[in-house]
Amino acid sequence: PLSKLSNVGTTIFSQMTQLANENQAINLSQGFPDFMPDPELLNYVDNFIKKGFNQYAPMGGMIGLKEEIARKIENSHQAIYHPDSEITVTAGGTQAIFTAIATFIKRDDEVIIFEPAYDCYEPTVELFGGVIRRFEMKAPDYAIDWNAVKGMVNEKTKMIILNNPNNPSGRILKESDIQELIHIVKDTPILILSDEVYENIVFDGKQHLSICKYPELRERSLLIASFGKLFHVTGWKVGYCAAPKILTDEFRKVHQFNVFSVNTPIQLALAEYMKDDEHYNHLNEFFQKKRDFLRQGLSTTSFELLDCEGTYFQALKYDKISDKNDFDFASELTVTHKVASVPFSSFYKNKVNENVIRLCFAKKEETLERAIENLSKI
Ligand code: GLN
Repeated sequence: PLSKLSNVGTTIFSQMTQLANENQAINLSQGFPDFMPDPELLNYVDNFIKKGFNQYAPMGGMIGLKEEIARKIENSHQAIYHPDSEITVTAGGTQAIFTAIATFIKRDDEVIIFEPAYDCYEPTVELFGGVIRRFEMKAPDYAIDWNAVKGMVNEKTKMIILNNPNNPSGRILKESDIQELIHIVKDTPILILSDEVYENIVFDGKQHLSICKYPELRERSLLIASFGKLFHVTGWKVGYCAAPKILTDEFRKVHQFNVFSVNTPIQLALAEYMKDDEHYNHLNEFFQKKRDFLRQGLSTTSFELLDCEGTYFQALKYDKISDKNDFDFASELTVTHKVASVPFSSFYKNKVNENVIRLCFAKKEETLERAIENLSKI
């Protein structure tokens, strides 16, 4: 083959967004807000650019931002990370994930993932010669059978990748899941890559259980988060990786040759904006309203609404409407009914089709209203 990923196509998010645009459909496929971020945050960026902060940031990130990140993690999860030596600002969550995998995965290392899985994990592991072991979570509960996971662990297991809250299922890990995980990894050298980019979007008063709350997990974990999700600025591509110094030192060796450093004025603006906790404390309520609006609007349709505990994605089962596979159904929905979604099978290597699609509700009420109207006519 010409390249290492010659068997991989364009991501489903780009595909569905393109299909949405071609068909002038309401785009509830790719996960991004269609509303403006807070003008206060935009003003900070403007100010820092005009004040002349336009050159390279330090490799690991601006200290002011790393301090605010450490403060946020401590306040939310009672875990201490040293800002300078344990937090690295990255070009979004995806780059942090890529760099973490590139840093630690060597040929034949095994990596356990849980499907439906965000699409970048597996190809990135493959790029570095790693071998994927998958546990398939299934509708409607997307529960994990930890005995099965335990059965996958052997001396080659190098890493477990978690995504909590889970994109696309919208499910979160329970305390019992975490305890099972602790039991599996203790006395092993297994690393955990914990993708928690939706950590601040959890509903109904439920609590997000970050990996860093648990000392037995914190010591072996790379915790990934995203400002795109936190402040509605997915196009800024800024996130971070928090990990114990021994892991961060290695992570930065790769990071320095991957992006070297991240956008200076935006880091300064984020640091300033994060000084006020109110800027992210109400995210749960903000998105819960949108979730409830969408669910309410769809409650009289024949779609089955699966539980959504977190993230800004709602899973819909459509088997009362069509017997098409989810990819064909999502295409039809876009072309004919002008609502773009993401078929769940694209989150499974083996294209598991359970007739479920994903809708993004990080949208203005009027956008959701139009989508509900179209979906109600089916
Ligand atoms: N995280 C977003 C989603 O799940 C999209 C990211 C992307 O397009 N790469 O839809």
